[in-house]
Amino acid sequence: MNMIKRSPWVYHAHAGGCVGCDIELVASMGPRYDLERLGVRLVPSPRYADVLLVTGPVPLHTKPFLERVYAQTPEPKRVIAIGACGCSCGVFIDDENYSIAGPVDKIIPVDVKIPGCPPKPEAIMEGIIKVLRMK
Ligand code: SF4
Repeated sequence: MNMIKRSPWVYHAHAGGCVGCDIELVASMGPRYDLERLGVRLVPSPRYADVLLVTGPVPLHTKPFLERVYAQTPEPKRVIAIGACGCSCGVFIDDENYSIAGPVDKIIPVDVKIPGCPPKPEAIMEGIIKVLRMK
């Protein structure tokens, strides 16, 4: 049985990065790819969300906000890390980097990772479908 049985409401959390992944996410929600036809709805608050879509590496200054967004999302919840930065810090990977707290899964639990710099809308759609099929 799927954990999320109805149309998933998603909340986009931009933790950091260059915004390339965010542009692809917007494209996946737009008229060409139209994720909404699959029932995926972007919501303005994590309090309404089933799934968090997190982009970028997590800089130290946004870490507390990401933790708060995760805490505000009701159970059951799923988290998708979008892009190489969200999955593994991407171009920001550097142990000497003073401003990066880490990839998303170092801060909050992640269920699905969508690699790519940036991932295409098709990959983002596939990641969301993957999370809906999770038990
Ligand atoms: S993965 Fe690439 S496109 Fe996405 S935020 Fe990082 S550098 Fe930008």
